[in-house]
Amino acid sequence: MCGIVGYIGRDRAGRVMLDGLKRLEYRGYDSSGIAVLNSAGIQSTRRTGRVKELEVALGENLGGTLGISHTRWATHGDVTVANAHPHVSSDGKIALVHNGVIENYLSMKKFLDGKGYTFQSDTDTEALTNLIAYHYDKEKEQDNKSRFLEAVRKSLTHVEGTFGVAVLCTDCPGELIGARKGSPLIIGIGKNENLIASDVNAIAHCTQNIVYLNDNEVVHLSSEDFSISTTNSTKVEAIIQTVDWDTAQAELGDYSHFMEKEIFEQPESLKNGMRGRFSDDASTAVFGGLNLSPQDLRSADRIVFLACGTAWHACLVAEYLIERFARIPVEVEYASEFRYRNAPLDKNTLIIAISQSGETIDTLAAIREAKRKGYRTLSINNSVGSSIARECEGGIYQYAGPEIGVASTKAFTSQIMISAMLALYLGRLRSLSYGDGVEIVKAMKTLPKLVSETLDQSGAIATIAKKYAKYEDCLFLGRQMMFPIALEGALKLKEVSYIHAEGYPAAEMKHGPIALISKNCPSVFLATSGEIFQKSLANMQEVKARKGPVICVAGEDCELPEADIDEIIRVPKCHEIIQPILMSIPMQLLSYYIALERGCDVDKPRNLAKSVTVE
Ligand code: GLU
Repeated sequence: MCGIVGYIGRDRAGRVMLDGLKRLEYRGYDSSGIAVLNSAGIQSTRRTGRVKELEVALGENLGGTLGISHTRWATHGDVTVANAHPHVSSDGKIALVHNGVIENYLSMKKFLDGKGYTFQSDTDTEALTNLIAYHYDKEKEQDNKSRFLEAVRKSLTHVEGTFGVAVLCTDCPGELIGARKGSPLIIGIGKNENLIASDVNAIAHCTQNIVYLNDNEVVHLSSEDFSISTTNSTKVEAIIQTVDWDTAQAELGDYSHFMEKEIFEQPESLKNGMRGRFSDDASTAVFGGLNLSPQDLRSADRIVFLACGTAWHACLVAEYLIERFARIPVEVEYASEFRYRNAPLDKNTLIIAISQSGETIDTLAAIREAKRKGYRTLSINNSVGSSIARECEGGIYQYAGPEIGVASTKAFTSQIMISAMLALYLGRLRSLSYGDGVEIVKAMKTLPKLVSETLDQSGAIATIAKKYAKYEDCLFLGRQMMFPIALEGALKLKEVSYIHAEGYPAAEMKHGPIALISKNCPSVFLATSGEIFQKSLANMQEVKARKGPVICVAGEDCELPEADIDEIIRVPKCHEIIQPILMSIPMQLLSYYIALERGCDVDKPRNLAKSVTVE
């Protein structure tokens, strides 16, 4: 689930890999390790905690030009040095790092029982490491090169589950092998050096020539060359792509945290996602990569959105927007539920997946399930060339730039913005008039400026955060499109400050959560002008009547009973289509500043990982 970096070349492998691991730290992990192969054999160093600790442990001991390294996000076995990767087979021949889950590891262990292999860890990964060693030993008669490759291939065909792996063998000091199924893996092609990584970010500073591996593909690398084949030995033609990755975007600059940087980058990230995406007559959106004709899209009677976590909240906003502006019925499903639910769908259903990383395993699996049933699939994601982008028929890239902070901020607002543009586009294919289209485009274009104005209130929000950082519970309440923003506000606060928070439709509060209201449980209300503004106010009064502190985030045009409200945060008056984006900003700032007050590690919240590539 977390990170892999492998290196073969002329440089000091340990140094290159350590650098790569640091660039993967944002993904969230609990331990790390490096193995280099040199004349003394496999030199493996592993530590729990931060990569910094691994670096200290390694000291200058980084010799060797071939190696594999890993950041682990434990799925099987505690966070201990013994469970950290790389794992070395008990005969000392094979070292392996793995992202993913080997579901049948117990039967592998049973198979190896009595064959002389022992286990030092509780991980699923070690079973695969020993299985490769077993097959390697069994194929003694072959020459070393194909023997290593064959052993890896053969072992992988027995895996049930998911893997991105990098493997080395003591007998083969000029070879590195990588493979994937379900977990991402890429190859970086350099000059007299080649790399493997789970994420472009880890190696983009070394080379911009990248090959994305597909599921069930195995790459065999030397420092000069590489070849790709499938696990059942069919040769695969490699497609080398140049990544246009500005490594400065993945650095902190003047900010203290990536979360802070990414919140403040939103005027820019939103502008980038809009650029070149409006029609010449400025009445609709245009998307280059949908790969579906207007006729195809007109014939969609229903849209089902699939996502997890924050992206799922963006889908809920998309539901309101598309139903409101395009009048197409929308359903939103948790990808993890959809993939096993066998939901009956109408034949003209269009499936849209949203995933920042484009690697979320549940979303990927749900898309595959939908494709298998013959549905048309689109994706909205932020990572060009990601697995989900490649597997869907078409899609829309967010162009929000790399998001490093584990808690999503700019990717969320960009997902909503793309959804709003999609609602506009689909609406204009149906009943939305030219005039309405022009008005929406005009509103969208004001977005970067209005987001900047909202960000100008960060000082006032930091002051509010100081007052509220001591509470252990918090409710977020909103109606209509503000309900998903309330959900996201609660999720953000939970993620980075570990305060228990819940989001609810404001009127639903009376059906249960009202029992929580007391002077110790503040409520954040999201109030926007419109039909149900007065109803939101009534819900707010219900909280006040029970002594609950109220923080109200409201549009400038909302008339509020100020004396009854403890804190007020205003966002600029705007068109309803962009309200959810503007209202998200104070949620992000509030969570960020509260987490800082509580001394939390905002960029690496405990237990969380950036892109969830295990089920
Ligand atoms: N399942 C493996 C373990 O628990 C790999 C976890 C990961 O993807 O980091 O060690």
